[in-house]
Amino acid sequence: MWLKELEIHQFRNYTDVKLQFTPGLTVFLGQNAQGKTNLLEAIYFLALTRSHRTRLDKELTQFDTDNFRLQGLLSKLTGTLPLEITWTSKGRMTKVNHLKQAKLSNYIGHMNVVLFAPEDLQLVKGSPSLRRKFIDMDLGQIKPTYLAELSQYQHILKQRNTYLKSGQSMDSNYLDVLDEQLAQYGARVIQHRLQFLSNLEAVARTQQEHLSHDREFLTIQYESSVDLQSDLQYLVKNLIDALQEKRQKDIKKRTTSVGPHRDDVRFFLNEMDAKFGSQGQQRSLILSLKLAEIQLIKDVTRESPILLLDDVMSELDNQRQTRLLEAISGDIQTFLTTTSLDHLQDLQIDLQIYNIHNGTIKPE
Ligand code: ATP
Ligand code: MG
Repeated sequence: MWLKELEIHQFRNYTDVKLQFTPGLTVFLGQNAQGKTNLLEAIYFLALTRSHRTRLDKELTQFDTDNFRLQGLLSKLTGTLPLEITWTSKGRMTKVNHLKQAKLSNYIGHMNVVLFAPEDLQLVKGSPSLRRKFIDMDLGQIKPTYLAELSQYQHILKQRNTYLKSGQSMDSNYLDVLDEQLAQYGARVIQHRLQFLSNLEAVARTQQEHLSHDREFLTIQYESSVDLQSDLQYLVKNLIDALQEKRQKDIKKRTTSVGPHRDDVRFFLNEMDAKFGSQGQQRSLILSLKLAEIQLIKDVTRESPILLLDDVMSELDNQRQTRLLEAISGDIQTFLTTTSLDHLQDLQIDLQIYNIHNGTIKPE
């Protein structure tokens, strides 16, 4: 799939812009703080209805305004698909093919993106929430039911935590009901994640072998506070048991301490925890994961996702740059931000260049 057209209204430092793209490589070239990442963020938001940089959508509306709108024209195997998101302080409104969508899970998935940004280099070493977000964003694009179940889970989790914080005396029957519901959705969330990670592992392993000249064997492990079981009913039961075991502690701490919202992922290279790997090893690993994401989306949707590369070329050495560029030169629309064209001089593919200056965009 590829994005043919993008219209932006009052998003970050863009007042009104309308851009046409080609299916190949588009470069957003400009000095620091001109709006390059803002553009990728707009494309990302159009696909996933959220930003990769902030949870507060209010930050995205142009200063002194209170709403923004993003519109895109997507070219897919099935035809041209218009997408639209309008944000106001009252909420988001999404449209697919000019029709309003009541549920987020009916919107997300039409447009697939894979983003590779400097923050991703923290994926191995950084906090568990980064790794959970990585799974949620990717899995959510290929499995809308996952998003629906995750949001149900989060809804009940919030209810349970609000109750724990309420300060009233705890009704154990009510907590039983919440635990049961939480376990039903939580177990499904865990099950989807396990399946996804096993697929991801298979594809990323091949990439990692390639990048390390067969020296590094990648394994990915899901770390849960719950005993993992492939059978859903057992998993539900284990989750309920774990919640009950921690109940007194949860009441005291006024928060829920077990469940998929606390789980984590660990990466191993030849059985060594990749956290202890060199910087180069970690970068290869992250690149392998990103390339694997592209592959998985392709396998499921039969179309290439759109690749967003935010200033990552300069972070990679020659070999890794080459590997990444090989991936780009296939049939994958790519948007790349950079402050200089140095890394792109030798590229054998057509590129469209836009100069970005203080919220204005001019084709070169
Ligand atoms: P770098 O090369 O440093 O990464 P960049 O071109 O990617 O820079 P962006 O992050 O895209 O920069 O844009 C940053 C600019 O956007 C800042 O100057 C900031 O003031 C402006 N900006 C951020 N949010 C808003 C907003 N809500 N309204 C208007 N301008 C904003
Ligand atoms: Mg930037």
